[in-house]
Amino acid sequence: NINPLNVLALEIESTPQARILPLAHGLADDLFEHDGQITKREVRALTLSALSPRRGKLLWDIGAGSGSIAIEWMLAHPSLNAIAIEANPERAARIGRNAAAFGVPGLAIVQGTAPAALADLETPDAIFIGGGGSDPDVLDAAIRALHPGGRLVANAVTLEMEALLIARHDGLGGTLTRISVARAASVGSMTGWKPAMPITQWSWEK
Ligand code: SAH
Repeated sequence: NINPLNVLALEIESTPQARILPLAHGLADDLFEHDGQITKREVRALTLSALSPRRGKLLWDIGAGSGSIAIEWMLAHPSLNAIAIEANPERAARIGRNAAAFGVPGLAIVQGTAPAALADLETPDAIFIGGGGSDPDVLDAAIRALHPGGRLVANAVTLEMEALLIARHDGLGGTLTRISVARAASVGSMTGWKPAMPITQWSWEK
């Protein structure tokens, strides 16, 4: 049962030409099984960069969706661990399938709703909030739980969540970054920029 870290395991089983995964963050969205709720590759690459994985560290991926952030965290180095917290049971099951396919079966999955689901989890060195962050209790629970010296990164798409991140930035500091990505797509017989929804990212070291 060959399962090296950088090969998509399911493809080894199903086809003779397994695809070799690139080593950099921001893997193609299509490599993950997802239902559209996935942090897009460019934003994912910047998010992993902001999370700054370091040897042996534990990540909480709150509102993990497809698990793409937690999976790329674990792919960065075999010493890394992650807990994916996801409220939706279908998505929680999908995270398990993605983790197996990417050769990181050690990814812990908690199916539950933050902040309640965060109680009793091992103290994290890094936290990503990709869902549930428009609830101030989730943000506050994450800030409290984070290991001192650890790093929290939260991405907001909605104005409501952005307002919370701006308030935390005012109170606690850190870095606010606005990320906009546009891709060229056809407009009739011509080509134009099709923008994705812009993201406000707050990154903070405790
Ligand atoms: N970063 C993910 C996409 C996240 S989409 C990826 O790349 O795949 C946001 C997710 O947060 C959704 O799956 C939603 O079900 C989940 N979510 C929303 N509120 C939550 C909460 N309070 N606790 C846990 N999960 C939550």
